[in-house]
Amino acid sequence: MPDLATALIAENFARDAGGVLHVGGLALTELTKEFGTPLFVYDAGTMRRTYRALREAVAGFAEVDFSVKANPNPAVIRVFGQEGAGAEIASGAEFDAALRAGVAAERILFAGPGKSAADLDRVIGGGIGEIHLENREEMARVAAAAERHGVTVRVALRINPGATAQGGAMRMGGKPSPFGFDEEEMEAAIDAVEAMPRLRLAGLHLFAGTQGLKAETLLGQWAYGLGLAARMAERIGRPLETIDLGGGLGIPYFSGDTALDLAAIRAGLPALIATLRANPLLAPARVVLEPGRYLAGPAGLYLARVLAVKESRGSRFVITDGGMHHHLAASGNLGQIVKRDFPLAAVVDAGSECTATAVVGPLCTPLDMLARAAPLPPLAEGDLVAVLQSGAYGLTASPTGFLSHPMPAELLVEGGEAELIRARGA
Ligand SMILES: *Cc1c(COP(=O)(O)O)cnc(C)c1O
Repeated sequence: MPDLATALIAENFARDAGGVLHVGGLALTELTKEFGTPLFVYDAGTMRRTYRALREAVAGFAEVDFSVKANPNPAVIRVFGQEGAGAEIASGAEFDAALRAGVAAERILFAGPGKSAADLDRVIGGGIGEIHLENREEMARVAAAAERHGVTVRVALRINPGATAQGGAMRMGGKPSPFGFDEEEMEAAIDAVEAMPRLRLAGLHLFAGTQGLKAETLLGQWAYGLGLAARMAERIGRPLETIDLGGGLGIPYFSGDTALDLAAIRAGLPALIATLRANPLLAPARVVLEPGRYLAGPAGLYLARVLAVKESRGSRFVITDGGMHHHLAASGNLGQIVKRDFPLAAVVDAGSECTATAVVGPLCTPLDMLARAAPLPPLAEGDLVAVLQSGAYGLTASPTGFLSHPMPAELLVEGGEAELIRARGA
């Protein structure tokens, strides 16, 4: 079986006869010559294919929006917007990024546990489609902002489920969470919103967890969400307008990970569609999924150049100009319990034998490792390495201030052209 990096390259990218990695028809050796390193490259073709495949898999059940925090570059948001996606945002600045990307304000929804009055003014003044309420103080702040603007605001209640999905089955005993209202207090929260004349309760938001690779787990969460939606509709005595089932669709990062099976998702949907149709209070609702990682992750690569290859007491370290200041997740320091290697590849690989290689970044900390034992051909100063699956939670989720290196450049490749969507240092 090929290693994960080789499989991912075969799926979305290509190598030429000389073993040079190409993205969207462009040689990465040429792109790094022109734009330098470290460099993020995003392939619009992969984003569009991924979006369309998911949209088709869930057709008849849900619409697919894009969760902006996974990659807030407006050029990336624009690609999904062109495909028809609305945007889920978590800050006022992400609202502006989505608008700059051409997403209509009414197609934007605002989630996140700590929305400030200033951000609420900004999004309500800008005509946002929906705001998801996560706690009592926020409910009052949204109502006050709506009053200031003299408008009624569509809201949904984010619910922290009283059950967790395990291998498809839902078990009672949800975890404590800063996000949303606990399921146990859902009815009380509904009554509180209903008592606020400036808020129109449109529906429910449930987001049970990220990086789900099992279709049956996701289907179980969605089915649970429909059950909560039915409870909400019954309480308010009118049909729901929105049922937002969150994101959380996973992608393979580590050897042994299996990609999410879209056919299995598709096969499980008729039962959920029947549940919706059987309940007149749910049937009219727009069901929404809002993945970030799944849509943007596979399209992105992070490119770094080798600065030195150092032997130390029997171990070898490939030292590059790229590291955790741009890509915390690949270093294993963004929430991983066990640090495992992201898929890495040499940009030029003529087929030499691979050995397990440690790749480190330029920061003065042992945490700055891009790989501990990635299967790579021999590398020397000046060679290029690519970290795959880097289109989501890469630059945006990294401690860019640490050691004061410049921000990396970002490129969007589409139609055989590379567009500079963030200049180095900007
Ligand atoms: C982060 C987030 C998402 C996207 O999560 P992924 O795991 O990237 O799909 C969706 N909805 C909300 C509310 C989020 O906070």
